[in-house]
Amino acid sequence: MENISEPKVFANTVILQSEGLLKYILETGVYPREAETLKELRNATAKHPMGFMGAAPDAGQLIAMLLKVSNAKKTIEVGVFTGYSLLLTALTIPDDGKIIAMDPDRKAYEIGLPFIKRAGVQHKIDFIESPALPVLDKLLEDAENEGSFDFAFIDADKNNYWNYHERVMRLVKIGGIVAYDNALWGGTVALPEKAVSKDKQEWRLLSLAFNEAISKDCRVQIAFVSIGDGVIFCRRIA
Ligand code: SAH
Ligand code: CA
Repeated sequence: MENISEPKVFANTVILQSEGLLKYILETGVYPREAETLKELRNATAKHPMGFMGAAPDAGQLIAMLLKVSNAKKTIEVGVFTGYSLLLTALTIPDDGKIIAMDPDRKAYEIGLPFIKRAGVQHKIDFIESPALPVLDKLLEDAENEGSFDFAFIDADKNNYWNYHERVMRLVKIGGIVAYDNALWGGTVALPEKAVSKDKQEWRLLSLAFNEAISKDCRVQIAFVSIGDGVIFCRRIA
């Protein structure tokens, strides 16, 4: 039987090609362009025992590109952690832009907060210390919020991804973009279950189910991208 094992992860990216190639990309085109405060937040996060959860910097670059080309101004962030993708978004949207960010873990957010403040973008952020689902439901109670968001980044508890999808499909406008992180779940989606460590098996199954469901969802155009731990970009079309 061929050698099947979990792929290596480097710089928060599943290594599908080679570590050298990723290093080349990061050092040539990503790190030199990364805002100083974002770099500092990333380095502060690396010391956290769960530091690997931060968004991959090359994925961040692509997200910033999409925010710019779509003129995103009002966004949703589900899963803040120390705030890498949050600060990236805050640095990218206009000065009068707004991000509603949700995470029950305020402690992690506070690691990134000094860098957010230093970047001068805190006024764009509404951090809500809470699981995201009730907050999204609350937003939907006000009809004015429907179709009022330009962008959403979902990077939190896999078991709720479809619940988030159903909510953001109403909150994000037609033409708006929703990005779902960790679509590859450490590369385990392409492995047989027996080759996957016990602690990853449940979310592997959830990832497989979510990826399949989103691929069949006619309400969105999708781009399933192998960057970081895999990101599925959706453009709402209906
Ligand atoms: N986007 C972040 C990484 C998020 S990691 C970055 O770029 O750094 C996943 C986060 O999801 C964790 O901080 C965790 O606290 C949060 N999370 C877990 N369950 C959640 C829930 N029900 N609602 C919102 N966030 C949740
Ligand atoms: Ca992630």
